[in-house]
Amino acid sequence: MRLAPVTIESYREFVPTEQIDELIRLGNRLRGLRVAHINATPYGGGVSELLRSSVALEIALGLSVDWLVIAGDSRFFEVTKALHNGLQGAPFVASADAEEVYLINNRANAAGLSAEYDVIVVHDPQPAALRAFAPTAATRWVWRCHIDTSQPYPAAETFLLPWLEGYDGYVFTMREFVLPALRDRTVDIFPPGIDPLSPKNLPLPATLRRRILDWYGVVASRPLVVQVSRFDPWKDPFGVIRVFRRVRDAMPGVQLALLGSMALDDPEGWRLYDRIREEAEKDPDILVGTNVAGISYVEVNAFQHSAWVVVQKSIREGFGLVVSEAMWKETPVVAGRSGGIVLQMADGEGGFLVDPLDEDAFVERVLELLRDRELARVVGQRGRARVRENFLVTRYVRDELRLFERLVE
Ligand code: UDP
Repeated sequence: MRLAPVTIESYREFVPTEQIDELIRLGNRLRGLRVAHINATPYGGGVSELLRSSVALEIALGLSVDWLVIAGDSRFFEVTKALHNGLQGAPFVASADAEEVYLINNRANAAGLSAEYDVIVVHDPQPAALRAFAPTAATRWVWRCHIDTSQPYPAAETFLLPWLEGYDGYVFTMREFVLPALRDRTVDIFPPGIDPLSPKNLPLPATLRRRILDWYGVVASRPLVVQVSRFDPWKDPFGVIRVFRRVRDAMPGVQLALLGSMALDDPEGWRLYDRIREEAEKDPDILVGTNVAGISYVEVNAFQHSAWVVVQKSIREGFGLVVSEAMWKETPVVAGRSGGIVLQMADGEGGFLVDPLDEDAFVERVLELLRDRELARVVGQRGRARVRENFLVTRYVRDELRLFERLVE
């Protein structure tokens, strides 16, 4: 992937000074380090979002970094999405066929890995077996897991484990996610972060935001609830619709926007999208938007910023960049108490956490924030401060560079 250049200085406006200074020092010490980041999709979902920003920043700091995206056939992505779901706890059948598809695709991608690197970071399970097929003695290999692997379905864990052998480091977002078999290895724990320079997170003038909402038929003067997510069962979009309808019964006039992106490695997204659209077509107060129909960075920005409340009803969540994105815009979030979401917000600081399956609690908290705009304002402001300190991409890159330094010393 080719990325537009950035400079570290352009982050000063948004980021704590000590983070910038430490990044510059780390960059000087690691100047010229040859790094490859490898993942399964160039767009859609949090990992590509994170790589787009963190790779550009690592290059700006003086490292020599490539972002490589593996190729795969449709059967491969069916297998890897099932594996992803299995690692998050869904039933998974490890058939010989699935293993063959997984390995053929990984082997082919390993054969295409031509350049020499000091460090290779493999993101998530899809390309995990590259390590086994591209052994290079001088390279340090890191497996970076972005998903919630706290309660994996045993067959999914057994499927993946042999391919995680031989890595020099493992990174998880939370200590709870570390797979039991890796607990005696060198494991680093640090969460992702959002990019304050992305068009998704820059300040947008109110008039522009209103016009964008108008364009999609959303009335800016009426209350708006938004969830931004891939169309994925773990994000419970039908639960969001049920909650929304009960909120509307209590507060007529409220609208819902469900924005979802399609990712190259997520065939399930299309199937779910069809069902959600069918449901929403019956309801003029629900907008369903996607990246294939014009919803891109600026639109997501406008909706997250204009929402009275952002909902993130995740049942499992590796991190949930969307939570920090909303908090950065001072929009209060009502979110499931799951996975990486609990790192980002606390009750009253950015929003409210509720049991992800407790729809009564969701309805209650959403209504509370829609009705009490002063509460929403205070909670939203505290959210932005938390993101500034802990969940910007600069902090993520700092943690990653510290790891690289340790690996190559
Ligand atoms: N996203 C987007 N357009 C959409 C839906 C999602 O750009 O219609 C982005 C969203 O803003 C966020 C990423 O996709 O940056 C989703 O990342 P997250 O960590 O929340 O979830 P994941 O998809 O990785 O499970």
